[in-house]
Amino acid sequence: MADSQFKIAPEQDALLTFRAEFAIPTFRQMKAGAVASDIADEPCTYLCGNSLGLRARRSKELIEEELEVWATRAVEGHFDHPLGRNWVGIADKIHPHFAQLVGAQESEVACMGTLTTNLHLMLNLFYKPTTERYKILCEAKAFPSDQYAMATQVAARGYAPSDAIIALAPRTGEHTLRTEDILAAIEREGASIALVLFAGVQFYTGQFFAIKEITAAAKAQGCVCGWDLAHAVGNVPLSLHDWDVDFAVWCTYKYLNSGPGGIGGLFLHERWADLPVREAGWWGHDPATRFDMPPDFRPIRGAQGLQQSNPSALSVVALLGALEVFAAAGGIAAVRARSLRLTGHLAALLRASRFYAPPGRALAPEGEATKLAVTVITPEDPAQRGAQLSLVFLPTGRGVMPRVLKGLEDRGVVGDSRKPDVIRLAPVALYNTFEDVERAVKVLEEVLAEVEKEGIPPAA
Ligand SMILES: *Cc1c(COP(=O)(O)O)cnc(C)c1O
Repeated sequence: MADSQFKIAPEQDALLTFRAEFAIPTFRQMKAGAVASDIADEPCTYLCGNSLGLRARRSKELIEEELEVWATRAVEGHFDHPLGRNWVGIADKIHPHFAQLVGAQESEVACMGTLTTNLHLMLNLFYKPTTERYKILCEAKAFPSDQYAMATQVAARGYAPSDAIIALAPRTGEHTLRTEDILAAIEREGASIALVLFAGVQFYTGQFFAIKEITAAAKAQGCVCGWDLAHAVGNVPLSLHDWDVDFAVWCTYKYLNSGPGGIGGLFLHERWADLPVREAGWWGHDPATRFDMPPDFRPIRGAQGLQQSNPSALSVVALLGALEVFAAAGGIAAVRARSLRLTGHLAALLRASRFYAPPGRALAPEGEATKLAVTVITPEDPAQRGAQLSLVFLPTGRGVMPRVLKGLEDRGVVGDSRKPDVIRLAPVALYNTFEDVERAVKVLEEVLAEVEKEGIPPAA
């Protein structure tokens, strides 16, 4: 297989050693039935860390320690923890890591809740529609949970989602939004927009939006600007404070490897540190007097005043273990540098495939788009994407994508599909290798050759 300019030799690949910090399921464990039995106990080709990151060994150790402290210290673990991780302050262990990852002060971040509940909290705090200014601008085909959150928040304030939510779609013939079109929409509709709320990295297309420019344009129009960083945190560098972002929310089980349903995070810009908390809980109360249990709520200043409940110590340390590995690897700058290489390599190998078609083909009129092909709808510009590439299989709507997905699964290449047409592959810089990328493309070509041989049923 052809090399690319992105590949580096193992001796130069400083992050390669971190692969050993993670549990990578074997082909057999992933039920990859078409893999030769002599390699069945080797690690599978896991390119799905954008959906669920792998488990760090350190997370397992920390969870086991906490289970032991629970067993041996029980309630005393809250204030007198033998390993120096008093449960009352356990989330504070995360805040310095979060601050690094999103480019914030520690007082601007909180480790709490889950993405969607945090999004609702932020919408309750920031979405204050008036007769003139009541709309929310977002990207078309936002993640369903975000769509539901926006629609119900809008409806709860008496507006019709169909009127109040402007979902920006790409130009005809294009798969992703142009920054200039987003900025133009903000300028055009600005006076009626209360809130601009985009995903940092779009889950379906993999597009990394120009957060700095979009935020600046939104604020110039007097809009609040918030970001869903589910696919951005731990994937791309962020400077939320300097970019003047008002708020952001994220989950941690994707690129931050905290485990299924792991605890979430949020960012509240310093400018809003004294905004009255609307949905207070005891964990947002000043820790100095929290356990005096006073009748009146006195919040911690900033993001951590939004904490409601005492967090799951097990969830927090699962995340902490993974973040310690992340930091040891050099943090997001080092991770992004290697990520650009891995994803660049993947894109280059796909482009070199005999099955590759340029992305425009996926939108070409029927007839031109009938030949079996794979295309990539994620932006080609590395600055406009993170780790993930979104592959579309042609002809669309003829059952090719599910057949390809099944073929990949059988051969132990783990990606995932998003309806209607996409298979997402994301090499993760902390644990994937250039060989993973090469194997994925080789297997993909094998599977496509098989589909080619078996034929594609005619359009219904
Ligand atoms: C993964 C993801 C979510 C998940 O929300 P949870 O509340 O963690 O279940 C939400 N929004 C986006 C954009 C996502 O990618």
